Amino acid sequence: MSRAALRTELDEYQVWFLTGSQGLYGEETLAQVAAQSRVIAEALDAGTPVRVVWKPVLTDRDVIRRTMLEANSDDAVIGLVAWMHTFSPAKMWISGLDLLQKPLLHLHTQAEVELPWATIDMDFMNLNQAAHGDREFGYIQSRLGVARTTVSGHVSDPRVVAEVSTWQRAAAGRAALQSLRLARFGDNMRFVAVTEGDKTEAERRLGVQVNTWGVNELAAAVDAAEPAEIDALIAEYVELYDVAPELLPGAARHASLRYGAAIEVGLRSFLEEGGFGAFTTNFEDLGGLRQLPGLAVQRLMAEGYGFGAEGDWKTAVLVRLANVMGAGLSGGASLMEDYTYDLTPGNERILGAHMLEVSPSLTTTRPRLEIHPLGIGGREDPVRLVFTADAGPGVVVALSDMGDRLRLTGNDVTLVDAPDLPRLPVGRAVWRPAPDFPTSTACWLEAGAAHHTVMSTAVGLETFRTFATMVGIELMEITDDTSVPSFVRELRLNDAYQRLTGR
Ligand code: MN
Repeated sequence: MSRAALRTELDEYQVWFLTGSQGLYGEETLAQVAAQSRVIAEALDAGTPVRVVWKPVLTDRDVIRRTMLEANSDDAVIGLVAWMHTFSPAKMWISGLDLLQKPLLHLHTQAEVELPWATIDMDFMNLNQAAHGDREFGYIQSRLGVARTTVSGHVSDPRVVAEVSTWQRAAAGRAALQSLRLARFGDNMRFVAVTEGDKTEAERRLGVQVNTWGVNELAAAVDAAEPAEIDALIAEYVELYDVAPELLPGAARHASLRYGAAIEVGLRSFLEEGGFGAFTTNFEDLGGLRQLPGLAVQRLMAEGYGFGAEGDWKTAVLVRLANVMGAGLSGGASLMEDYTYDLTPGNERILGAHMLEVSPSLTTTRPRLEIHPLGIGGREDPVRLVFTADAGPGVVVALSDMGDRLRLTGNDVTLVDAPDLPRLPVGRAVWRPAPDFPTSTACWLEAGAAHHTVMSTAVGLETFRTFATMVGIELMEITDDTSVPSFVRELRLNDAYQRLTGR
């Protein structure tokens, strides 16, 4: 049995640091360019989550082209940072940039922060001329239509390092989707529109493979769970959660918890053996499963897996994406569903939850592990983790298939403390959307964005925006600056833009 546990860390990735120049300057100056660009690369390496690898200074078209081809073919390389310390005539970059298939960050910086005003001479001017060389590089990128992220400022500025880190996280998310295999157990919930989508286009655009398996293959893996594996999980549950007394070993409903653990054993082994990083279930198609998977799904999401309910593979992709982009940060990511509203004027709040499947990565409190009836699906009572997501900033992001393209819609939100919810035994979150409830919801509906989202409390919209630029899909953002008329205008302009450019 070959098993590959899911990787969500960023340490397997690297970005290359490229410095452009030209032969005209002579060896002495090029040696200085090399030494100073190494210092910049090392500063970024030290301050950002992904390894930054310095490459020798580029002064020649053919070397640039070969460097881009090498970057394309190396799975560890998730993107390139380019800086023109001196002047690098940009025609030498055309063939390389045309071939590049990895994300590009244009770093507009200088070796030193301050100018040595008293001693400055033409040698200094010719060495430190990113103001001039980076404009040449910006021109050729724009002329070629290269999608990129531009970051401007000295690397000693924490803002610059933060912006490069955000780009790295988006690039890691993109790389993870390029190798993502997603298993759907059954199809979409019958008659539902928004969870549908073009899986072929998703693979072309995002790289993710989306395929379906019969749910009874999962049920067989669940039935094959060994008692010792189940015992080990029960011990882990007792350690990590406040387990309801009726579920504890020897108590009346312990068998239900053992079945919940068997689902986790079976699901995990199925995902590991298939190399899957995301999955979906559908309560209408449970085959031989005796409970709707709840606890197991919650725990797997918290480990880094993507998940969507009711066959919603698009949201499963987003949950996986957010888990990778947020690796190592505080906060988490989960499937979320806009469920119901408190419409008290001036204190409007959204209560989000799902039937069971909300990730405990959204809370730092100790979840309760409980069993309750589920009025849908017609199976045995499922076990589930019960908690409220931590208060603080977050985002919700949805992915819709608009027929001719994929659209991301994102909203900045503020999670707030929930009142006691003694009759609502599920994982849930309560939030206020930016800029205010009526604007947020009107924009959301105008965008055709879904009721399923990924909620992330680890990364913000800037990371999703950077990702969207990399993969060439639309992101409609609802933030404190949003108004309904401007949002609707942007939707119309985007329609035209997307159709004109095919992006
Ligand atoms: Mn749902």
